[in-house]
Amino acid sequence: MSSLLRKITERQPALTESLIELAGINSGTLNKAGVDDTGRLLGKTFQQRLGCTHEQVQLPPYLLYQTDGNELEHPLGDLHLFRKRPEAPLQILLSGHLDTVFPPDSDFQQCDWLDPQTLRGPGVSDMKGGILVMLEALSAFENSSLSSQLGWTVLLNPDEEIGSPGSASIITQQAAHHDLGMIYEPALPNGQLAGERKGSGNFTVIVKGVAAHAGREHHLGRNAICALAEFITELDRLNGQREGVTLNVGIVNGGVTTNQVPDRARCRFNIRTRISDDELWCKQQLQRIQQQINLKNGISLNLHGGFGRPPKSLNKAHLSLFQLVTDCSKQLGTPLVWEATGGCCDGNNLTAAGLPNVDTLGVLGGKIHSSQEFINIESLVHRAQLSTLILLQLAKQPNRWIRHRKPTPQELSNET
Ligand SMILES: [Zn+2]
Repeated sequence: MSSLLRKITERQPALTESLIELAGINSGTLNKAGVDDTGRLLGKTFQQRLGCTHEQVQLPPYLLYQTDGNELEHPLGDLHLFRKRPEAPLQILLSGHLDTVFPPDSDFQQCDWLDPQTLRGPGVSDMKGGILVMLEALSAFENSSLSSQLGWTVLLNPDEEIGSPGSASIITQQAAHHDLGMIYEPALPNGQLAGERKGSGNFTVIVKGVAAHAGREHHLGRNAICALAEFITELDRLNGQREGVTLNVGIVNGGVTTNQVPDRARCRFNIRTRISDDELWCKQQLQRIQQQINLKNGISLNLHGGFGRPPKSLNKAHLSLFQLVTDCSKQLGTPLVWEATGGCCDGNNLTAAGLPNVDTLGVLGGKIHSSQEFINIESLVHRAQLSTLILLQLAKQPNRWIRHRKPTPQELSNET
């Protein structure tokens, strides 16, 4: 192992300390203040350690439909971009997210040790640990003589856990200026890399009926909850009808009291798709069910939302990159393979934007999105070594990886 990689091992205590500090700042997606605190702390560290430029971008608010059919605006945290050497031949986009799924009122706010190797805490794997891996690898890479061959952008977004509604357009825009993408989502539970990923869409259904007294005028009421229940039953029947497509109703609300026929009901559901044609099939089915429910007297059902993430399928460029990653992992003595997963992430968005990427370069851990989330603490070092080696290999043969991309603003200004 080169001295560059060996030195990362000495960083284990500092990395652990930083992770405990970061995980202790609540950054549930809709907690803008906490997400921004996390971004600020990381922003300072990235600039200090990497000598890069820093740009902070405000995002439009996230709109969520309420049971009454009105939209509520939730402000999102800022997105951060860090750049180094936009004039270098090869341009890499490294991406991570600042947010977690744990809101400020969750019981899960601090870290504790399950054993000397295993730290439990909110976001330790998904993905505060991953962001530290990225930082550590870039820092090591910057000390190498090959660094001039490779420029990079780090993108930290605040809204990945809700499907990146505010940051998707910036991700797409950035993808166009880069040759390859490296994303720091945690490894799969068995430690391997994700290959193909399913696509995903989030939808909200609002049903309006007619309110009435449950005793005196029940016959005049039109029950929104019952109509929604029919919709949900029909929706659930679609499961199993098309290979790889799953539909999951996750949230239901409606009604105020038992002696009133409810006139409002809402549900939110998620659809996963395997291939891009699945989206059209799903839309047709949803429309059919919607029309069927809307035939009912006094009931109106509206459908909002859509598919935010197309399925990630692998092309030749992805496979070459995966090969390089597996070669690097072999050199480090922990050979990796990749496998398909139903989960999705910003790797789907980068793929849709034409950027070949590997998206599970973060830490090893498990039980993510639950209050048992943990990290294998040594993976901070191992994964930082892996990413450093990948960057070094890419920088050795930059021409092999350059694709037909849009020039960076720096390259454009050099031409004129
Ligand atoms: Zn994540």
